[in-house]
Amino acid sequence: MTAIEIPDGSLFGLNNLPYGVFSTPGAPRRVGVRVGDTVVDLAATLGDDVFARPTLNAFMAQGHRRWVEVRERITELVSGDVPDAAVHSVDEVTLHLPVEVGDYVDFYASEHHATNLGKLFRPGSPPLMPNWKHLPVGYHGRAGTVIPSGTDIVRPCGQRKAPDEDTPTFGESRRLDIEAELGFVVGTGSELGRPVPTGEFGERVFGVVIVNDWSARDIQAWEYVPLGPFLGKSFATSISPWVVPLLALEAARVDTPTQDPEPLPYLTETSPWGLDIELEVELNGEVVSRPPYREMYWSPAQMLAHLTVNGASSRTGDLFASGTVSGPERDQRGAFIELTWGGKEPLRVAGEERTFLQDGDEVVLRASAPGVGGGRIGFGEVRTRILPATHT
Ligand code: MN
Repeated sequence: MTAIEIPDGSLFGLNNLPYGVFSTPGAPRRVGVRVGDTVVDLAATLGDDVFARPTLNAFMAQGHRRWVEVRERITELVSGDVPDAAVHSVDEVTLHLPVEVGDYVDFYASEHHATNLGKLFRPGSPPLMPNWKHLPVGYHGRAGTVIPSGTDIVRPCGQRKAPDEDTPTFGESRRLDIEAELGFVVGTGSELGRPVPTGEFGERVFGVVIVNDWSARDIQAWEYVPLGPFLGKSFATSISPWVVPLLALEAARVDTPTQDPEPLPYLTETSPWGLDIELEVELNGEVVSRPPYREMYWSPAQMLAHLTVNGASSRTGDLFASGTVSGPERDQRGAFIELTWGGKEPLRVAGEERTFLQDGDEVVLRASAPGVGGGRIGFGEVRTRILPATHT
């Protein structure tokens, strides 16, 4: 038996307990929970077959009451001695995509980001479209290309046309970018024809991951009118391997910024789901930005209410992301197109100039939030390296 030690200042204390899917050599994928620097095998300790599955979906589908009960059992379990065979060092396991992603939606909920992008993509026009303060703008993305941290991405190719070019050409993206976001994982879905009220967010959404919504700005700029993002986004979306339970984020809840004009009734919240979560963007070992999630105009409860208000159903494993998190300051912007103002104001990173990403660059996103009872809780990281294009 082993007593799990939690290092002082660990972002993975008993007030966090994020879930993931891991494997060890010669053994299948299964569900674990991170405690300090260890992964506890829930299939081997809790005696429920849902943890022997290769994704969190079966457990998530059991519903909110079960999530609360399991969290209490895990707290008891890891406070005492745990069987040696169920304890692994986080360095010795392989972490996988934690969820079989159902539908994937990406929102656009930061007023600072939407304003900056409006100025960059549509100079001379009002930066926010007339609908922006009335509804959380979003689009349906590609669930099949959601990939876990540690998976390299290949530079995408496609049609791109610079403003000074007459016709488009095919080739590798010259403006490859990130979008630092959070993603919300639906635990229990909703039926066709039955919108989800904002007040059900806390019972239906299982947890939160970090999302990097990779964006090829040149492909995006040429294709996005009139139907929105398509191939400039769909080549890859990276997520963190740990799903931080919503139950661990009670101390991070804050009001959303003032919403003026007042949203329509289906978007109002009696107890808002603003979240005080700090993100961090690192490029080649140097932190270049710290986007503050608390600045987001629309809350994730409003996003879920909006994406089902027409009667669309939702399913276990659906993922909806917040949109790029950008704050009011320059060093709080969550994308390089904003950090370098469309590539016109390069950053100096690790001794080199950067506008958009180069082959071999490595991007790491991290996030942390206040924990219940003090201290902070961590979301881990999303780490990705850019490989050269292969099909030019
Ligand atoms: Mn995005």
